[in-house]
Amino acid sequence: MSIFTKIINREIPAEIIYEQDNIIVIKDIFPKAKTHLLIIPKKEIPTINDLEQEDRELLAEMFFVAKKVAKDLWIDEWYKLNFNVWEKAGQEVMHIHLHLLSNI
Ligand code: 5GP
Repeated sequence: MSIFTKIINREIPAEIIYEQDNIIVIKDIFPKAKTHLLIIPKKEIPTINDLEQEDRELLAEMFFVAKKVAKDLWIDEWYKLNFNVWEKAGQEVMHIHLHLLSNI
């Protein structure tokens, strides 16, 4: 079970910014910008390389959630979105997550 699944299951604490049936958004514990959020699907997919056709809608929904949260937090003037894929790219948690960063 990934650390994010434990957060989703409320087994370990996190600052939850937004939640819906299939996605949760939390504050990154070690923020690399003034706002650093993680958009996480509740389905535990290890890396982007493990995506299946059936995950298309879920992946698209992650971007709509990013857009919504950025607007709600008034940081939608500019922000960065990124996925790290595998350790060499900096992926530490093997449960896909979209980083949302802004210094507004
Ligand atoms: P990655 O390096 O895998 O792309 O991103 C994982 C992110 O999760 C890192 O930025 C790291 O700071 C964050 N992170 C790791 N463990 C926890 C945790 O227990 N709680 C929260 N809120 N963030 C975490």
